[in-house]
Amino acid sequence: MIIDAHTHIWGGRYDDSTRTLLRACERFGISKLYVSGLRSHDSDESEIASLNADVYRFMKEQPDVAEGYCYVNPAHPGALNVLKRGIEQYGMSGMKLWVATFCDDPRVFPLVEQCIEYRIPILIHSFHKTVGQLPYETTGIHVANLAERYPEAKLLMAHFGGNCYHGIKAVRDYPNVWHDFSGSPFRRDDLDYAVEQVGADRIVFGSDMPITYLVNYGQVEEAELTAEQRELIYYKNTIRLFDRGLSGRPS
Ligand SMILES: [Zn+2]
Repeated sequence: MIIDAHTHIWGGRYDDSTRTLLRACERFGISKLYVSGLRSHDSDESEIASLNADVYRFMKEQPDVAEGYCYVNPAHPGALNVLKRGIEQYGMSGMKLWVATFCDDPRVFPLVEQCIEYRIPILIHSFHKTVGQLPYETTGIHVANLAERYPEAKLLMAHFGGNCYHGIKAVRDYPNVWHDFSGSPFRRDDLDYAVEQVGADRIVFGSDMPITYLVNYGQVEEAELTAEQRELIYYKNTIRLFDRGLSGRPS
């Protein structure tokens, strides 16, 4: 079984995005997708509303396959209400942060506290770049700050922090940080390194579809893992991460 914990519907491209996602489920035997909507780096309120409405539409059209993240821009005064609507009315399963603010910005705190109450994970785009870092683009260091402040929050650091040697090093002492290797970190040994640093229990499979899929699948297949570790990464960890009976604080 494969669960993909990191996929998107691009704003304005609903048909294209969802067609790609569903075709991948069919071709590659993916059982479940966790989806968020994205468009501009600093979405205004109406864009956020329409991106979340796209995800909700997909959840309703594909109830067996599609689960949603509620995308919020923490700089908006109404962000907490957006989150509540997403979780309570749309039935979404997590919150998504992108590049509108750093994840440890104080405006994020009330959102994190609400997610702790819901016991839902927070998917955090995290990307350390040598050149071209966006002004409010979170790296592993920001994720570590948030993890330190909120040990009971379930934080999913996306993309291994962009460069696993930077991102994982920053967060490896925080047991409430989970990891996905979706998108563009493509080195053959990234996953082996991550398992060595943080173990296989908090690494979840994510692709960043519709951008990539097979590369991430290939990373799991190629890594030096036991069959049990592969199962953890492909789906078992994700089931645990989204289990609302469990808080981020390890028992
Ligand atoms: Zn993404």
